[in-house]
Amino acid sequence: MSTSARSWVETANDPECGFPLVSLPWCVFQAGDERRIGVGIGERILDVKGCADEGLLDGLSAALLTACRAVQLNALMELGEAEWGRLRARLKALLAEPTNADEEARAREVEKLLIPCRDAVFAMPAAIGDYTDFYASAHHARRVGSLFRPENPLLPNYKWVPIGYHGRASSVVLSGTPIRRPSGQRKGENCAPIFAPTGMLDYEAEMGLFMGAGNALGERIAIGEAEKHIFGLCVVNDWSARDMQSWEYQPLGPFLAKSFATSISPWIVPLEALEAYRVPGPERASDDPLPLPYLQSTTADVDGIDVQVTVALRSAKMRAEKMEAMTVSRGNLRSLFWTLRQMVTHHASNGCNLRAGDLMATGTISGAEAGSEGCLLELRATRGPLRLPTDEDRIALEDGDEVTIRAWAQCDGWPRIEIGSCAGVVAAE
Ligand code: CA
Repeated sequence: MSTSARSWVETANDPECGFPLVSLPWCVFQAGDERRIGVGIGERILDVKGCADEGLLDGLSAALLTACRAVQLNALMELGEAEWGRLRARLKALLAEPTNADEEARAREVEKLLIPCRDAVFAMPAAIGDYTDFYASAHHARRVGSLFRPENPLLPNYKWVPIGYHGRASSVVLSGTPIRRPSGQRKGENCAPIFAPTGMLDYEAEMGLFMGAGNALGERIAIGEAEKHIFGLCVVNDWSARDMQSWEYQPLGPFLAKSFATSISPWIVPLEALEAYRVPGPERASDDPLPLPYLQSTTADVDGIDVQVTVALRSAKMRAEKMEAMTVSRGNLRSLFWTLRQMVTHHASNGCNLRAGDLMATGTISGAEAGSEGCLLELRATRGPLRLPTDEDRIALEDGDEVTIRAWAQCDGWPRIEIGSCAGVVAAE
């Protein structure tokens, strides 16, 4: 189906809308006491369980129909790419402009299963078994590294091995959930450690991928197959307590400075929806090493994705004075040093079994240029304290600060694809 295919849901045909027929991102929404799987179309959500119950998905496999009636997406993720493809094709057919009287009658049936997005209450799209956070932006790694090791900002392994750590899945929350300021150990005034609420709370603008069907324990995922295992993308804020992090991270890496909360946006956007936005994978400088063979892709000319990522900040004072949030940075997914393919393949390269519903995040998305720093730690290093329109300064998040990370794809001639918005307000400890 072409990216310009029209839907009878009129708002979906507005190129600015973000939810065209080609996209149909997944979500889970609250329908009364029940949670249901849906897809976004225009300014509506199509109730996928309702479609199954009304016989509109007849002919698809029994496993697929069962997965459509589930309260989270894991069963559907598990069924694999061919089955999601068949379901998406059917949903697109139900929502495409009718070409005959039968299709017109069917569209009237489907219309009863649309819910306005503005009334929707979203729920966690999947039960997340494991959460892994990468460090895929060399610009981020270099800037952060230069704060600690000015003479040697990028460690020698960086361009050989996709760096990551195992995060905490239990504290992944949906956009809109307040983030309670964590307490923890950090260095005190005279270097003796103290236990206190963090004074250096930060955000990290990232994108996440949800795994579809995984690999068996002991098996790997070939780089050419890696994207078939990706169910879709979302926006991630990997909240971080910098003072706790710098005290605890040696020698094993992030621990409690990260595990108190991670926020995600409600939609999961299939890679198929972003076909028009594929761009070459990251360029390696002439003195960069080639990836080892298991990380070498034969599709490097389309391994990147042009997705814009912005961070906006609004303090409690700005809210009280009815000011809009201030955009503090703009980055792009295409600027990462490691691709989504490489992250998935590397993660499974030791035979570790990835499972449907696992979440992997890219790590902070920062570009080379000033204004693209995806966290306050970097912003402070390049620009000094952030001055808000209320004349408040920020080197770290204060109670009441609201952080909103948004991601979307947009270029001339193609409909905008909304990835999502991930917001959270910092609550006092
Ligand atoms: Ca991170």
